[in-house]
This record gives sequence, structure tokens and C-alpha cells, in this order.
Amino acid sequence: MKDSVNADYLKKTTKALPVVVAKGDGIGPEIMDATLKILEAANVSLDADHIEIGEQAYLSGNTSGIPESAWEAIHKKKVILKAPITTPQGSGYKSLNVTIRKSLGLFSNVRPAVSYHPIVESKHPIMDLVVVRENEEDLYAGIEHQQTDEVVQCLKLISRPGSEKIVRYAFEYAKKYNRKKVTCLVKDNIMKISDGLFHSVFKEVAKEYPDIQAESQIIDIATARIANRPEEYDVIVTLNLYGDIVSDVTAEISGSVGLAGSSNIGKDYAMFEAIHGSAPDIAGKKIANPSGLLHGAIQMLQYFGEVEKAALIHNAWLTTMEDGIHTGEIYKEGHSKQKVGTMEFADAVIARLGQVPSHFKKIEVKEGEDFRINIQEKSHAPKEKKLVGVDVFIDHRDRDANKFGDALTDSSKDFLKLKMITNRGVKVYPGGMESTFCTDHWRCRFISKNAEVIEGKPDYKAIDYKEVLELMMALNKAGFDIIKTENLYTFDGKLGFSLGQGE
Ligand code: NAD
Repeated sequence: MKDSVNADYLKKTTKALPVVVAKGDGIGPEIMDATLKILEAANVSLDADHIEIGEQAYLSGNTSGIPESAWEAIHKKKVILKAPITTPQGSGYKSLNVTIRKSLGLFSNVRPAVSYHPIVESKHPIMDLVVVRENEEDLYAGIEHQQTDEVVQCLKLISRPGSEKIVRYAFEYAKKYNRKKVTCLVKDNIMKISDGLFHSVFKEVAKEYPDIQAESQIIDIATARIANRPEEYDVIVTLNLYGDIVSDVTAEISGSVGLAGSSNIGKDYAMFEAIHGSAPDIAGKKIANPSGLLHGAIQMLQYFGEVEKAALIHNAWLTTMEDGIHTGEIYKEGHSKQKVGTMEFADAVIARLGQVPSHFKKIEVKEGEDFRINIQEKSHAPKEKKLVGVDVFIDHRDRDANKFGDALTDSSKDFLKLKMITNRGVKVYPGGMESTFCTDHWRCRFISKNAEVIEGKPDYKAIDYKEVLELMMALNKAGFDIIKTENLYTFDGKLGFSLGQGE
């Protein structure tokens, strides 16, 4: 006989929760109907608008997959419960998820990864971690260019306010959910300025949370460790791309990709969903597992402050799972008792509303508990910015670095001093190595004519932007093919640019 919770939990939510519901594509409508049925049975009242986004919108010519009417509803309600959508094959379709996240400022992607062993097989029976992924910046800014015949670039943009928001969110999350540790994952041994900024913000913000352990790890070895010993991790905070990869690793090794939900949270808007896709292979068969979307909906209830409803549904779900009532993809002889379809699973959860699990840890609600997280942006005094040089990127086909460097020195000597040339980041002039392979993409660093090198370190002098323009004119006149320039600044005297390898 299972324990049951206070029947008061079944009473109606005090106010209807404003939400936009997107049933999505593939299995989307089936799992959304099942999820909504459970919410209704739990007496969660929704003030819902339904929107059509995804495949149909894409195919009718809307490249973002979101028609104007859907945006209107989203701006009105501000919270989206979204089933997975299908992105049509072929170029020209923009990722709907990325568009929503960026347009609505959903800076935080929260993906819990929990092991439900032995009900759902996992090599990591005690895994219970959360990945908090930065959602707006990094290489996902989508700023890419082909610069030469041989070289393309993708800009990695990391901002201080963006880093601060997500790091603070991770610590606040840890505090609210009684988690003990936040681990920051970066690659600042290589990307000292961009990942370095994220890391230094992490160390700064961590000081405000002395009760939570803060640690930092390099992303590559950390990912290997997570895959091997996920039980050592609690809350993970990281940049967009690393978070994308690490959260897929954690979902996969938990054994529960099909069971996990995720939330995308911003200052004014939020979106809740399952982490899996639209599973076109089983669409319409009524066998899909609605658990991932249900977990998204549980996170949505917490976001609205409806913690008791969230716990009520979560406990009923855990009870259903441990009672062995499973959809086909997790059904296993020995562990499972009954194989059910999407709606039967939902009905089994509904039948257990009010019960709490005995094998899994039950979800308890403490008096006054509130999981809502409100991040305040902090202001910082601006630093003193000084222009000290310029990197000029040049398209040059001849791979001979010395010949190129000498010609460039000759054409620039009356304007700025050519300090070095790198090719894909490695110094090739002056004094490069024969063995370094050079492409047609050269980064040529110019500093003040008056800068002196003291003990191997240049004493950067301020330059005027006019000197850069004069240099550009001279290089253009001499026939060099300039791709772009990047100004070199110091901020409060600290270099705002990296040195070339070997510089
Ligand atoms: P998928 O997650 O849809 O499916 C992978 C496998 O898992 C399939 O075998 C599928 O049957 C199974 N599966 C997924 N969800 C399940 C569920 N709830 N119950 C039972 N089995 C389930 O991944 P995919 O096949 O690579 O992608 C299909 C489509 O989904 C693509 O168009 C992709 O772009 C899209 N997608 C959308 C989202 C989103 O909207 N957030 C996320 C990922 C993929």
C-alpha cells in the first residue's frame, strides 16, 4: 500500500495560469494531449491559447516556423508549453528553438538528468544532476563569414552581463533546489579571453554564495568524467555549445532521454518542453511516452510557484514508474508489469494523483517553498579603453610568409609598425618555422610606430584611429586584399586581445 499525500493538493489552482500551448509535430499532439489531461486531472487550471508553430508554418513559407499570430499569443501569455517540432530537411529553415530563445531572451536552459535505475536501466544508478546552459551567446550568435577561398569563421561572442546572468541563475537554482555544488565548465586554458571571462565571472559570483561549493573544470576532461562518474556532479553551469553537448551526454547516460524535460527561462518569458524530438517514426501510433513533456510541465508549475501541484504530479509519475506501468520504449520484462500506450500511461498517472512513491524518493514540499528565480543585473563601472593597435586580416594566396611579411613591412612602415603575422593563430613572421602550413588567411598585427619592446614585452602606446585609416589606405594602394580589421584595445591597462602562438 502506497502512502498518499494530503487530499488538499487536489484542490484547484487559485488562478488560471497564462500559457501558450504548441502541440508541435510528429508525436507532439499525442504527448501534449496526454500531458494536458494529467494537468487537468490534477486541477491545474490553465488560461491557454493554442498556437500552430513548426513544420506546417515552415512549409507554408515561414522560414522561422513561427507565424505572426503565434508571436502575438506568445507576447500576451509569456509562457510556452511546447511539444517537439519537426524541422524540415534542407537549407533555408531557421531553428525555431534558437529563434524563440533569442527573441524572447531565454538566457537559461535548465536540463535535469536523473537516473531512474533499476526501473529504467542506467549504468549510473545514483545520478541526479542539472545542466544550466547559457542559451543566447557563444558560437550560437550565428555570425559566420567566408573570408577567403580557404577560410571561414564563426564568431564566438561572450558578454559579461550574459555570463553573470547565467552563473547567478545556476547559483540561485542550487540554493532554491537545495543543491550543494556548482561546477563551471570552460576551456580557458585555450580561450583565455572569452572562456576566461565566463570563468572569472563564475569565481566572482561564487563568493556571494559561501554555502554552495564552487568548482571549475576544463570542459574536455570534465565531459569524460561526467560520462564516467556523473554522481560527482550536482549543478553544472557552462557556455552554450559546451552545454548543448554536455546536456546530451548527461541525458543519454541517465538512460532517460525520453523522460527528461527542459526549461528555457528569461527575465519575462519562459518555455517548457521535452528534450527529445518529434519522433516521426512512431507518430500517430499512440505509443509515445509523454513523460518528457510532462516533466517540462512540472518545471512550468514550479516556475508559476505552483510547487504543490508540481510535487503532486511528480509523485504520481514516480509511483506509476515504480509500479511498472511503462510505454514501449522503456518496457522491459522483469522490471515492467504492463506495457501501455500514451493515453493509458497518462491515465495511470492520473489514477495515482495523491500517492507517493516508495522506491524513489518522494518529492516533498516545504512550507513557503518557492522555486521562482529572479536575477538582478549588477552594474559595473566602465573600464578605461585605449586603442593600441590593429589586427588586419588579409587574403593572400602566396604561402611564403617571409616574402609576404617583408612586402607588408615595406608598405606600412610610415604608418604603424608590423609586429607580427600569424596564420590560423600561429606566428609565421618574423621568424616563423618552415614547417608551419599557411593558408590564404593572414592576421597581421600592427602597433604604434613608437612602441618599444622591453624585455621581450611590447610597451603598447596609444594610437589614433586615423593612423589605422591611413594604414588601410596605404595597404589598399599597395594592392593588399584586406578582409577585415580588428582593433586592439587595453582596458584599464590590461590587454584586451590574445597573443599569437609563438608571439
Ligand atoms: P527524436 O528524439 O525525435 O527521436 C529519436 C528516437 O527516440 C526515435 O527512435 C524515437 O522514436 C524515439 N523517441 C523520441 N521521443 C520519444 C518518446 N517520447 N517516446 C518514445 N520514443 C521516443 O530525434 P530525431 O529522430 O533525431 O528528430 C526528429 C525530429 O525532431 C527532427 O526534425 C528534429 O529536428 C526534431 N527535434 C526537435 C526538437 C524540439 O522541438 N525541441 C528536439 C530535437 C529534435
